[in-house]
Amino acid sequence: MKDGTKQPATMNCLGLLGGMSWESTLLYYRGLNQGVARRLGGLHSARLLMHSVDFAPVAALQAAGDWDGAASLLTEAAQGLRRAGAQALVLATNTMHKVADRIEAGSGLPLLHIADATGEAARRAGHRHVGLLGTRYTMEDDDIVASRLRQRFGLQVSVPDAPGRDTMHRVIYEELCRGVVDEASRSACVALIGQLRDGGADAVVLGCTEITLLIGPGDSPLPLLDSTALHVEAALAWMIDDTAGPSP
Ligand code: GLU
Repeated sequence: MKDGTKQPATMNCLGLLGGMSWESTLLYYRGLNQGVARRLGGLHSARLLMHSVDFAPVAALQAAGDWDGAASLLTEAAQGLRRAGAQALVLATNTMHKVADRIEAGSGLPLLHIADATGEAARRAGHRHVGLLGTRYTMEDDDIVASRLRQRFGLQVSVPDAPGRDTMHRVIYEELCRGVVDEASRSACVALIGQLRDGGADAVVLGCTEITLLIGPGDSPLPLLDSTALHVEAALAWMIDDTAGPSP
């Protein structure tokens, strides 16, 4: 095109499972659209379908340990995205990757796993030992992201001590998921990253999609692996055939 806009050979249609919380889903929506515009120029924007759930019942299912219930709810949403034309799924939360396999199997759609996006970035950057910050579920249940980071990417994974995990969990659910960004919580979170560094970590995974609202590269004593941004980049690589050149 005359304005230099690139025409992709294809732009795959992404299914975004969001609302967990919507504060971070906004970052995905913006990041995906900005990423498409950056790659293709002009008026290009992301071809996507979104199902944004009501987070309160999902959080209640988490707190009750009812992962089957959460899996059913999200699988039903994913099936709707498939019927509407989505070709792959992005689940815009680390914690709910607890049931990623079930959503993938139940919807019949491939799921772009958040731990793969994070692990690949860690490997590319040469990190060997990462600290992991997230909800208590993500930090204490290896099946969510930690074992995948270990097994697929050979990373050592450390988490904060029990009081540190309590703090992080509280900040996520009581503040960040409600749009509250608090200076004292930022300092507490930076202190946790410092502890992880003292324990030998050479980078920290922001393994909850809201933590990036609180902590930026300028705050952290360790390099950041921001799962939200990395997941968005992985989704963009899947959506766009980057080998497409400028159209005639
Ligand atoms: N968005 C968060 C995460 O990445 C926490 C909220 C949730 O439990 O989904 O884990």
